[in-house]
Formats: sequence, C-alpha cells, structure tokens
Amino acid sequence: MSQKFSKKINGIFIDPIIFTYNFHCKCSGECCWYGVYTDLKEHDLILSIKDKIIPIMDESQTTDINKWFEAPEKDEDFDSGVAVGTELFNNKCSFLDKNGLCTLQKLANNEGGHKWKYKPRYCILFPLTIFEGALTIDDEHIDRLKTCNKNPIVKTSIYEACKEELKYFFGEKGFSELEEYSKEYLNSLEKKNELASNNSREVA
Ligand code: SF4
Ligand code: SF4
Repeated sequence: MSQKFSKKINGIFIDPIIFTYNFHCKCSGECCWYGVYTDLKEHDLILSIKDKIIPIMDESQTTDINKWFEAPEKDEDFDSGVAVGTELFNNKCSFLDKNGLCTLQKLANNEGGHKWKYKPRYCILFPLTIFEGALTIDDEHIDRLKTCNKNPIVKTSIYEACKEELKYFFGEKGFSELEEYSKEYLNSLEKKNELASNNSREVA
C-alpha cells in the first residue's frame, strides 16, 4: 500500500498529480489496442454473459472464448487479488470491434443499462489507474501510445477530463470528497508558488 500520499478516499490513496497533469483525450481509442487487466470477478462476469457478447461481435473479433483472456496472475491492485489480461486479437483487445467500439459497452448500451456496467474498472479509469493502492496517472501506458495526449495545446487537467469516470468510480459521496481535496490542494499549491515568487523577487 502506498504511504507517500496523505489523502485516502474509499480506501484508495490519491496522488495529487492528477490535479495538475495536463491531459487531452481526443483520438480513435488507441488505448484499447493493448488490452487491459481485468479483475478475476470482472473476467467471470464477462464470461457469464458470453452468449450476449458473441452475437454482437464482428468479423475482426474472435468468438472463441478461449482466446479472450490471458492466464490469471496475482496482483494486489485488484480487489480479488487476481488479474486477468484480455488477449489481443487482430492487434487489438479481443473486445474492440472494427469501428473502435468496446463490445462490452455496446452490449450495455443495447440493453439500456449504464454504459459501463460490464466494462472493466481499469478501462473506465484510463488514463488514470490504481497503482500500489493509489489513484494516479497511467503515464507508462500514455507514454507508449502514439496519439494519446499528444495535443500540444492542452489546457485541461486529467482530473477535469475524467470527472465523469471518477464520479462513477468513487460514487457521489467519495467524489465530493475528492472535489474538496482538489480545491484544498490547488489552493495550497497557489500559495506556495506565490511565496516562492515573492522570495525570488526579494533575492533579486
Ligand atoms: S475491454 Fe473494451 S474498453 Fe477495455 S480495452 Fe478492451 S475494448 Fe477497450
Ligand atoms: S485515453 Fe488516450 S488513447 Fe485513449 S482515447 Fe483518449 S487520447 Fe486516445
């Protein structure tokens, strides 16, 4: 568990870098070309609805369920302690269709349910992630993508860009706490910067 951050919401530490890191999300979904790690329970849920997923897959995807996932592995950043990666098929996540849409989200939309009800948590969170018990930026994945966040005129923080996802993840109460923390953190940062600029003026 990460002890380097002071704020914890719903048992998850918050890395304040999310309030200042600039991010602009506007591409064709390259983040889905590499697959994702699902929690074992999410993996089980997806397999339990395979009969609804298969009919809405297209010819660029495989309907062989044995090719949907990698072997399970231990990982403490997952609720069940076990992560299962989605396999790549045709150089993209096995659930990504030829139009760049996630089949799991497509199914939820078709059913009129919440759009993320079948979607793995790490897909919802990206470009954020949970690493060693803390909500932080998935900079490793962002950096290896060719188009992700490559817009040079970025004015939005990753926190601002991901509010809908964070509200879904933390719930209303947890998200309000996060909003408060964001204001506190940004105010204290502003004061520190003011102080530093006053000090440098005095030295000059
Ligand atoms: S499960 Fe869906 S959202 Fe997640 S990586 Fe695969 S296609 Fe993308
Ligand atoms: S998160 Fe990055 S790769 Fe994914 S859609 Fe947004 S900009 Fe594109």
